[in-house]
Amino acid sequence: MASPLRLLLLSTPVGPLGSGLGGGVELTLRNIAQEMVQRGHSLTILAPTNSRLEGLVIQEVPGNLQITAQTQGRDSPISLPENSVLANLWDAACQMHHSYDLLLNFAYDWLPFYLTPFFDRPIAHLVSMGSLTAAMDQVIEQTIERFPNTIGVHSRAQADTFSFSDRCVVLGNGLDLSLYQFQPQPQNALAWVGRIAPEKGIEDAIVAAQATGATLKIWGAMTDPDYWQMVCKNHPQANFSYEGFLTTEHLQQCLGHCRGLLMTPKWIEAFGNVAIEALACGVPVIAYRAGWPCRNCSRWQNRLAGYI
Ligand code: UDP
Repeated sequence: MASPLRLLLLSTPVGPLGSGLGGGVELTLRNIAQEMVQRGHSLTILAPTNSRLEGLVIQEVPGNLQITAQTQGRDSPISLPENSVLANLWDAACQMHHSYDLLLNFAYDWLPFYLTPFFDRPIAHLVSMGSLTAAMDQVIEQTIERFPNTIGVHSRAQADTFSFSDRCVVLGNGLDLSLYQFQPQPQNALAWVGRIAPEKGIEDAIVAAQATGATLKIWGAMTDPDYWQMVCKNHPQANFSYEGFLTTEHLQQCLGHCRGLLMTPKWIEAFGNVAIEALACGVPVIAYRAGWPCRNCSRWQNRLAGYI
């Protein structure tokens, strides 16, 4: 191996690691961190207070959580709460960064991109969603112009929502397969896994499951309770149940018993960790073709706006 690196990982400011509020970023950060350690690199993880990741030490940073970008309108201004955990994370990074070779940013937020030229250590950014706001598009593009090859994305479909698609580095996602077991005997239920939020489109999965007569079991962080109430109200006769938010270990046990995973997103999934998690337990995935390359960003935005 080339000489080991000292890495400083900066987590998402939308929720503590382990809460599910950060969506797939949480598992992605965990997988990357574990793999880097296995390869002989050393690292520190900075994350909001109450963060937990099995087997990894976290330096907790206090402060108020950041609003998620997917709940913002296209032209929303950048906003930070008072005593912002995002600002505190980057303040901590500013004080520590001389002890590291590389900083890794997992936040889909304006501030880390804006701050990049002010640090004298390189910063690599893992952009976890497609184009959502004009301000984010602009600051990511400025960063890519000034620091080529520092913007990673999860898929070509995600990259294609940005006008600077060809300059993004597509990294894909991986899993620690030892955490998932193949379950040869499926039961009758279908699964839906993800954050409970409008862009994830649970209502379509409920209708599809109802048409087959199978029960739909739903796992995920309850990020939008109003949306969930509306879904329940609109489908009073459907056979579905909310099973809570589980650790990876328990999720894969339950998911592995399902006949199939339904993925019905209303946006372009940057990746969808849950698809490869289901496949890792031998569960087939039935999904919309949303995440298929689409070069027309404005058309995609209109589609999204029409859905939510
Ligand atoms: N997840 C979990 N426990 C659950 C349900 C979901 O840990 O009970 C995790 C799942 O492993 C996945 C994440 O929630 O990593 C959802 O991420 P995905 O990439 O599918 O979508 P995102 O939320 O990022 O849009």
